[in-house]
Amino acid sequence: MSARLRELMGPYADEAERCIRCGFCNSVCPTTLTSIGYAPSKTSRGRLVLLQSALESGRPEPFTERFKDLIDLCIGCLRCVSVCPARIPIPTVMSAYRYAYYRASRGKSLTKGEKLLAKYEFLMKTLSMTPEPLRRATTSGPLLRLFRRVGGFAADVKIPLPEGEPLDRYFRGGSAVLGPETYAYFSDTYARFVRPSIGVSAMKLLENVGIALTYPRQFDSGIVYWELGLWQRVERLASRNVESLYREVSAGRKILCTSPASTLMLREVYPQILNNVRSVAVSESVVDINELLHQLADSGRLSANLKPARCVVHSSCLSQHLRLTKSVVDMLEKLGVRVEGVATECCGSGGVWGLFERNRRLSLEIGERLVRKLGSAEVVLSYSETCSLQISSLLKNAVEVILPHEALNSWLRQTASPTHPEYIAQAP
Ligand code: SF4
Ligand code: SF4
Repeated sequence: MSARLRELMGPYADEAERCIRCGFCNSVCPTTLTSIGYAPSKTSRGRLVLLQSALESGRPEPFTERFKDLIDLCIGCLRCVSVCPARIPIPTVMSAYRYAYYRASRGKSLTKGEKLLAKYEFLMKTLSMTPEPLRRATTSGPLLRLFRRVGGFAADVKIPLPEGEPLDRYFRGGSAVLGPETYAYFSDTYARFVRPSIGVSAMKLLENVGIALTYPRQFDSGIVYWELGLWQRVERLASRNVESLYREVSAGRKILCTSPASTLMLREVYPQILNNVRSVAVSESVVDINELLHQLADSGRLSANLKPARCVVHSSCLSQHLRLTKSVVDMLEKLGVRVEGVATECCGSGGVWGLFERNRRLSLEIGERLVRKLGSAEVVLSYSETCSLQISSLLKNAVEVILPHEALNSWLRQTASPTHPEYIAQAP
């Protein structure tokens, strides 16, 4: 078994073996810092020790549900990557184990819920294109309850379902006019089929500073499949996305992302798995919406005095990993927004991990630390779609939780008027 595990994990088996068992990763790991963290095998360090042992001696037996359950306590937050003295890409090692288990079980290791998530893009696309009354019927009541039961999704989590027609329709009929400054927008599935308003906010915000968006042919970024260990599918998606986005890059356009998951996949994961010139070119052309807005505010192209606006910023795990938090806070403050605090705690959603009933208790326990930090905030800006849903749920839907660029678009529109010109956006 150890040889089979080594063969399937490839270079990531060697990565696991480089662990010196220092335990630094435990000090930042959200699942370790909970009531289960007293058990060594349920810690970040413990998972590396388990893998090392399975790779060396086949003990414990790696291809068992028990072993996988322990590995699945890694929620892929990436917080440990920067503190590991051996520079081990810990969440990728865990994902490599899942890939190995998936292959060893000939694709039978996925739960029903994971199989549903593996059809995420297809399901969301189909639902978003379904006529309104039918969509409403299929995404509420008994059918939604059945979906939760079959998939093992927790009763109290908000299942992200399409709010309307796909984002694609906003880019038809010349709504995105090519201008002197044009970015190619990579929206990913959530903004494309679930909440197109994320993309529309970005489009409107940038229109005011003379930036147009094109909407190239694109597919899901693959982050959910990456988390589940479905690496062959991620590779296929990465190839297709890079092929399309490279054409944009060749035409001199930058690639704009409005999701930290997309920024992560395009910037870091695609070049890692494709390892070719085009994926590197695409990676180097990626601009996150918060980086762009920060640049615009910094250069004075976007200026405003949004004094009445107040918020607490939630620095999500991916925002921290991508070093976006400073850009968000600086940009807001430059535009006059009062940032009353920055909460860096994990919300416990872990992408799709927290959706499952089997993880829900721990997910809420992780989120408690964040809830304490958020105090009596009235508006929380969290740069992550899944974190926003989780925080809303943790705060019993009593607080507005939105993405920074959406909040900015809304505040700027509220304050702008011909007689009250607090919002100045200059075309280049
Ligand atoms: S990625 Fe997050 S959950 Fe996984 S081991 Fe690292 S800190 Fe823990
Ligand atoms: S921080 Fe790195 S080297 Fe230290 S225990 Fe964690 S994975 Fe191993």
